[in-house]
Amino acid sequence: MNRQRSEAAFAAAKRVIPGGVNSTVRAFRAVGGTPVFVREAHGAYLVDVDGNRYLDYVLSWGPMIAGHAHPAVVEALHRAAERGTSYGTPTEYETELADVIVEAVPSVDKVRFCSSGTEATANAIRLARGYTGREKFIKFEGCYHGSADPFLIAAGSSALTMGVPNSLGVPAATAQDTLIVPYNDAAAVRAAFEHNPGEIAAVIVEPYVGNMGMVLPLPGFLHALRTMTREYGALLIFDEVMTGFRVARGGVQAREGVLPDLTTLGKVIGGGLPVGAFGGRAEIMDRLTPDGQVFQAGTLSGNPLAMAAGLATLRLLGDDTFLQLERLGQRLVDGMAEVFTGRGVPHTVAAAGSMFGFFFADGPVTDLAGAKRSDTALYGRFFHAMLDRGFYFAPSQFEAAFLSLAHTEAEIDRTVEAADDALAALRPAQDDVVCR
Ligand SMILES: *Cc1c(COP(=O)(O)O)cnc(C)c1O
Repeated sequence: MNRQRSEAAFAAAKRVIPGGVNSTVRAFRAVGGTPVFVREAHGAYLVDVDGNRYLDYVLSWGPMIAGHAHPAVVEALHRAAERGTSYGTPTEYETELADVIVEAVPSVDKVRFCSSGTEATANAIRLARGYTGREKFIKFEGCYHGSADPFLIAAGSSALTMGVPNSLGVPAATAQDTLIVPYNDAAAVRAAFEHNPGEIAAVIVEPYVGNMGMVLPLPGFLHALRTMTREYGALLIFDEVMTGFRVARGGVQAREGVLPDLTTLGKVIGGGLPVGAFGGRAEIMDRLTPDGQVFQAGTLSGNPLAMAAGLATLRLLGDDTFLQLERLGQRLVDGMAEVFTGRGVPHTVAAAGSMFGFFFADGPVTDLAGAKRSDTALYGRFFHAMLDRGFYFAPSQFEAAFLSLAHTEAEIDRTVEAADDALAALRPAQDDVVCR
């Protein structure tokens, strides 16, 4: 596959943009090679600047659940843009989208919009701190909550000590207030509460993790978080930026029947435009300014184009849609698992709603340490072999994959066949070697 124009575009970008990208993972460092520069996208397909087409399983890292350039979304954007693109005043659009969210997400009575998932989680933590009068919070290793300072923290040498910054520029003082524990480890959460009595404002969690590859909670884990946060007077925050309107209309909380105090949203609710939101019980949300004393603001918060694209997208998503997407996702991971088994590749797969993932490691994978057992070199080779066959997966083993309304059963089956072909080219199965 010829990608000369992408190569030239990357060289040009690197002259004026650090690393040539505006979000780190886009640079392909985890898999090597040159990022694909996209010219346009329609339905389930990306078209790059060289004219190559790829079946897209990244979908802008989650938002494009309707597929690219869905006519209803494009039409809504046209109509909104003709009336102006930002006013800095309240609009009825915002209430309309807020109503849809409050209706769909079980724990949310009130919601405030901002412009990214990063803003949503940063605001949710500030609100939790303001509400409880406490400063520390618990975060799970491998969960991603955007790029704000309090979340760019890794585990210290002992799980019970404070975290350490995992980026230069994050103050050690900030890291002290973020306690890092392994995902799915309820005992470690209890230990963190016991060692920091009266100091922990919140536990924030990706209830289904999509940011270390896809990792699901063990039975009872989310319930345990709910029980413990109540017991110790902390808030439970579900970061559903990825899973909201993705694994079900009401997100993970609707599937699992565990209701957090605060929920963060983003991605799908903006239909591909920049958006974030955080919501929860009225009594907590009313602590925000202007009624309360926890500050929040944003020039483009609740932007009319983002609200219009979000509304148009959410209107396409009924409960039946998620069942259909879940069937497709299951078909894909079942097919992939069969291929991996056939080719002798150790693997673990997971799927929920329109989200799925696979690790090149024996299961079960329940936390970051488990995810890191993956054969990332094999993933890199598999990624490129699939790319060359016209299939775009995430350029890193540690990301979830997504389906849209535009993906069909035939495309799923084609993907599974291509995966078998790709692995055959990379790594002949044992008995192939023997037979010859
Ligand atoms: C993507 C993501 C974020 C950050 O959202 P941005 O819009 O990229 O700032 C936060 N939390 C989770 C779970 C995410 O998947």
